[in-house]
Amino acid sequence: MNNNFEQGPIRPPSEATSLLVRVTRNCPWNKCNFCHTYSGNKFELRSVDEVKKDIQAMKDIADQITQISRKLGEEGRVSRNVLRYIYNNNDQYNELFHNIAAWLYFGGENAFLQDANSLILKTPELLEILNFLREKFPRIGRITSYCRSHTAARKSVDEFSQLKNAGLTRIHIGMESGSDNVLALIRKGVTAEDHIKAGLNIKQSGIELSEYVMPGLGGLQWTREHARQTARVLNEINPDFIRLRTLHVVPGTGLDDLRQKGEFSILTDEEVLQEIQLFILNLNVRETVLASDHILNLLEELEGKLPEDKPKLLSVIQRYFDLSAQDRLIYRLGRHSGSLRKISDLEDTETYLRLKSVIDQYSDQGGDIDEDMVEIMNNYI
Ligand code: SF4
Repeated sequence: MNNNFEQGPIRPPSEATSLLVRVTRNCPWNKCNFCHTYSGNKFELRSVDEVKKDIQAMKDIADQITQISRKLGEEGRVSRNVLRYIYNNNDQYNELFHNIAAWLYFGGENAFLQDANSLILKTPELLEILNFLREKFPRIGRITSYCRSHTAARKSVDEFSQLKNAGLTRIHIGMESGSDNVLALIRKGVTAEDHIKAGLNIKQSGIELSEYVMPGLGGLQWTREHARQTARVLNEINPDFIRLRTLHVVPGTGLDDLRQKGEFSILTDEEVLQEIQLFILNLNVRETVLASDHILNLLEELEGKLPEDKPKLLSVIQRYFDLSAQDRLIYRLGRHSGSLRKISDLEDTETYLRLKSVIDQYSDQGGDIDEDMVEIMNNYI
């Protein structure tokens, strides 16, 4: 029995409880200058046989976990008790067992195809993988994947329809921006028109579409254009989800080099919020969920369905700007250090006073915590 399978390094936050099935390794583009996820790693297609062996190994592990559950008197269910047993017996059950057990515990119904652009596989190969996955795990109802717009713009609606019929339910695209100037600046390798064609191909097939947008990505120079053009492109696509993931310039990336040369000015937290405000004002999408489910976003509560929740979303941003300067600083520190999640968390007096005393001590020592916020984020992330 084979108890071994591969897993890639990342998945979207919304796939935290999904089964991770690695169908390719790394990123075929690997040139976006803000991204370091796959830097230094060569892209590789995996063969259908290799992926099927992985899926079979996942199934074998799932069957062993069912047996453990029965032995523990849990009738095959993966309860908290079964999970604890597997996690506490590290010598017998490795991380792959932990992952499968946790997936089954959370329902065993979602799967995510890794890595950065799984749709680059030929459609017949993807179909074979999807069919095998659903044959081995008939309870899976949602299968999702990342895809580059460059790839999706070149796959036909008919191919996407076949993939939908084989079980592919949602595609996540790292759109980042709808501005050609910003896309060129970050070396995304696609244009706004590619994004639109890709998005429409997916939507027309009936597969759900989730578009990732990166506030702050145009820096000071392109902030307004980034907001307006991204909204324009999304209005044409009308995706099911828009997900915000605020830019964090990682040391050592190409974008960090531009910053050091004075060719890219990072927006402050509040400039990013003003950009998001302009972006939302320009959005005219229908039946689209806007989500702010990334740790890098300042306001996690910026969530709602458009168009009806537009006033509510804008009021969340306004609520932040209505805070006093001191409370805004306390909130930013709390959010970036992981102590606060929402503006309303400022009402927790103990946390509020603790954060305030950190700021006071910092300024007593002559420091400016606002200036050092990026450092705090680097440490936290
Ligand atoms: S396409 Fe995605 S994974 Fe690849 S370099 Fe760009 S951001 Fe990174």
